[in-house]
Amino acid sequence: RDKLLSVRNLRTEFKTQNGPVRVVDGVSFDVGRGRIVGLVGESGSGKSITALSLMGLVPSPPGTVSADSIILDGTDLARLNGDEMRRKRGREVSMVFQEPMTSLNPVKTMVQQVGEPLAIHTGLNKRAIREKVLQMFETVGIPEPKARLDVYPHQLSGGLRQRAMIAMGLICEPKLLIADEPTTALDVTTQAQILRLMMALRDRAGTAIIMITHDLGIIAEMCDEVNVMYAGQIVEQANVFDLFDRPSHPYTRGLLASIPKATEKRTAERLNSIPGVVPNLAKLPAGCRFHPRCGDAMPICKLKQPELTDLGNGHKARCWLHDKEGAKA
Ligand code: SF4
Ligand code: MG
Repeated sequence: RDKLLSVRNLRTEFKTQNGPVRVVDGVSFDVGRGRIVGLVGESGSGKSITALSLMGLVPSPPGTVSADSIILDGTDLARLNGDEMRRKRGREVSMVFQEPMTSLNPVKTMVQQVGEPLAIHTGLNKRAIREKVLQMFETVGIPEPKARLDVYPHQLSGGLRQRAMIAMGLICEPKLLIADEPTTALDVTTQAQILRLMMALRDRAGTAIIMITHDLGIIAEMCDEVNVMYAGQIVEQANVFDLFDRPSHPYTRGLLASIPKATEKRTAERLNSIPGVVPNLAKLPAGCRFHPRCGDAMPICKLKQPELTDLGNGHKARCWLHDKEGAKA
């Protein structure tokens, strides 16, 4: 089996004062063993909620997560209860967040928190945990690792905190690491180092990675496969070469046109060079969710929602330009 994760029809809703809002709507994708798969889109596209849903970390209420299946290495996570999911989390699948300062506990030392998954999931004693954390700090390139064990998060730089978070994510040797904008808060040099570190870990340990980012530059550098998300749905899915060679959804083309040149700073704002904004999920436009911003929109686009259509070679796009039969029907 070379498929590690297979997500089918993931749906996540939040109760709001104006009724339920579907933030993730029918998301399906696969992650092969040792592969790096990107989820890319503007903020508000549902990437982070997709990740939290897979991790069983969407607060309920107000959230409700359902899926036809979420098969991780033969086990359907969609059928697990809270306790069973807790046993998977941190051990078989773990997550690294954008801003380590908010996900680290300020009053616990680094060895306490980075070692916590081991304390939860293994019978290792304190000394063995300390040894393992030290090894992990070396693996993720934390200089003078011994001196960093008993310090508090605020005593480390942002780059070292992010490395420590990655160490924590990897300490139980999970099969899958989900990284949500892991380098967005870091300077360009540190960002490049962290991305190289993640690729090296994939090469060495075979850890599969879901890379969540708004930055197609990062996708181009790291990913094997890419899922482009818009308004809670996947609108294009392809291997990284096809996506950059033959972007097929107008939204993807817009994202590609907005990639900053090497001399420009990468920021989320850059993506706003696609005119208009991500729609309010509580008031989605009829038809194709992208039609108010799409330069290629046709009459049918305002009426009927396109399906994700196979263009061959596993390349899929959700757009009437590529579903001529559907457009006629
Ligand atoms: Fe544009 Fe129509 Fe394709 Fe939507 S379906 S992306 S509006 S061409
Ligand atoms: Mg996000």
